[in-house]
Amino acid sequence: MTLHLDPRAPWVISTHDLGRRPGSMREMHLTLPAPADVGVDMIGVPKDADVKLDIRLEAVMEGVLVTGTARSPLRGECARCLEPVTSETEVSFQELFFYSAEDAAEDDSLLDGELFDLESTFRDAVVLTLPLSPLCSEDCTGLCSQCGVRLADAEPDHGHEVVDARWAKLQGLVTEHNNDQES
Ligand SMILES: [Zn+2]
Ligand SMILES: [Zn+2]
Repeated sequence: MTLHLDPRAPWVISTHDLGRRPGSMREMHLTLPAPADVGVDMIGVPKDADVKLDIRLEAVMEGVLVTGTARSPLRGECARCLEPVTSETEVSFQELFFYSAEDAAEDDSLLDGELFDLESTFRDAVVLTLPLSPLCSEDCTGLCSQCGVRLADAEPDHGHEVVDARWAKLQGLVTEHNNDQES
């Protein structure tokens, strides 16, 4: 498990100022552009949107413990009426970046020299908080199942005169039956 981080990538952060003495600590306040594909089907963080990070780096024996919060905008679609939905999310995260793969389990994160990459930590934290069915408002009434108009924009008594398909069939049977008797 080797990794080579690009020091110029926005989410790659240097621990140079922290050093390796256990107990040393640094706080950082950063605004980073959101990476692509942070989200689920209906909602997510728009690519390149400002993500505001408050993080604390702490040197421990095995690596660097990163604790923080991230605030970012969200954009998506209402699961009922498909209108745009915008909101904000704030997530907390904590991750230990190991100095050496020997101390780490397979899924653990590693430092590359003095660098670590916070992108997947952020992505995982955000995705966990996203609603699978975002709504434009709690009581969104969705779309008319007959004509697709957004019911919040329609007349209060919006509706359609529809003969239930099962009824139509039954009516047909009754008529046929009567015909049989007459013949
Ligand atoms: Zn809606
Ligand atoms: Zn309708």
